[in-house]
Parts: sequence; structure tokens; C-alpha cells
Amino acid sequence: MNIESDPSETEPELVALAPEERFQFSCGPDVACFNHCCQDLIQALTPYDVLMLRTHLKLSWPEFLERYAALYTGPGSGLPVVSLRFAPSRERLCPFVTPSGCSVYASRPVSCRLYPVARALHRSRQDGRLSEHFALIREAHCKGFDQGPAMTAHQWIASQGAREGLEASDRLMALIALKNRLRPGRLAPEEEKWVVMAFYDLDRLKQEAAAGHLKGTHVSVAPLPDTADDFAWLNWGLAWVRRALFGDAR
Ligand code: SF4
Ligand code: SF4
Repeated sequence: MNIESDPSETEPELVALAPEERFQFSCGPDVACFNHCCQDLIQALTPYDVLMLRTHLKLSWPEFLERYAALYTGPGSGLPVVSLRFAPSRERLCPFVTPSGCSVYASRPVSCRLYPVARALHRSRQDGRLSEHFALIREAHCKGFDQGPAMTAHQWIASQGAREGLEASDRLMALIALKNRLRPGRLAPEEEKWVVMAFYDLDRLKQEAAAGHLKGTHVSVAPLPDTADDFAWLNWGLAWVRRALFGDAR
């Protein structure tokens, strides 16, 4: 297996994929490029990705951050962003890649599930409805095309278990769009801390909510989740951030 970067490799090509159009793709230990895509990436993680990985690894948010992630302020959004810390070696390997593949496969990030499909959401100016648009990412090193069963983008998403994570990403993107529109630039340091907690540190979010410390805004968002389920708390946290930062704005 050769996983060295090829300096002569060309830029990825995006090829539009119509909703009913089928493509063939198969990836596994048999492909010559196995693991090649798990290196030299900037792998941003959504709050949903972080929760999936933390749950899989049984790590608290501070432990996960210390071992695997970097936290910074998004230059565009002014919101906290987390990315995976890749090894500092020349190949910059993902911390979860092993010779036999992805060690967190069942909980891998949504972008890893989606590859080689790229997805964008478009909002109609006429009726405000959202529609999905797809493309295939064609990269010279990736040898997975033209093998395996033919699928549409929707079938690919279902087969990779990516739909739930995409819906969570869409909720986050809606929040970011609102932030860019109403409050461009950085948040106040205290606000940034609250957002980091609501996005990534759900244990603390639960404690603060239970103690009534969330600036009095939580009562007007929605009832606190009557469950320990972290995914319910993640959705609640996003709704709380939205309400705390933007009030009733849509
Ligand atoms: S999380 Fe898994 S699939 Fe994604 S880059 Fe890392 S090793 Fe590869
Ligand atoms: S076929 Fe593509 S997705 Fe699969 S390991 Fe090779 S480069 Fe990665």
C-alpha cells in the first residue's frame, strides 16, 4: 500500500450529478488506493460528528479535544469550529486510520461517509423551499469508481448511513447563515464559551441547564429534553444558541 502524497496529483474535479443519475463506486481493502484518502485533509467536524466520535471512543469533550481535535474560531462565521488533528508527519495521517482501515468506521464523520459525493443545499427564492444538489468528486488517486452497484446520490447517502448527520449539518448551516446575516464577526468571549458548550460539551450543557444557569433563555426555547439522549440535547443546544444569539429572528 502506497499512501505517500503525489505532488503531481491534479486538483479534484467536481462533476454534476442529477438526482436520478446513477454512478458506481466501491471502496474497501481490495482497492489499490486503500486509505489514501485518510491523509492530508483539513477535516472539519460538525457538532454531530464530534458527538458520534466521542460516544464511540467513550471520551468527554475535554479528553477528545486534548487527544484528537483543534478548536478555533471560524474566520468566516465567527463561530467555534473543530477539526481533527492529523499527524504532523509528511503524510498527515488521520488519527483514526489503521492498516486495516478506519478504526471509527461506524461513527466516522459525515464528510467521510459522503465521499465521493459532494452535496449543496439551494433555497428557492420563489417559495423558500430547500433542494439538494449533488456532484461527484473525481480525484486522480481514487480508484473506487466504476465498480460496485449503480446508485443515485440518495441511495449512496442511505447506504452510508449519512442522512441523520446531513440533517444535523443542515441545522448548523442554518444557524451559521443567520449569524452571518445578523451578527457578522466574532462573538463576545463569554458568548463563545456558551456556544462551545452547546455544540460540543453536552455533559456541561445538561448540568448548566439543570441548574438554571443558561441566562434565563432556556425556558423560552423548548422544554428541556426529558432524556439523557445526547442527540436530543444537541438539537436543544442548537435551538438554545439560536435563541440566545438572535432572539426570535428567522
Ligand atoms: S475518520 Fe476514518 S474514514 Fe475519516 S479520514 Fe479518518 S480514518 Fe478515514
Ligand atoms: S477508493 Fe477512494 S475512497 Fe476508497 S480508499 Fe481509495 S481513495 Fe479512498
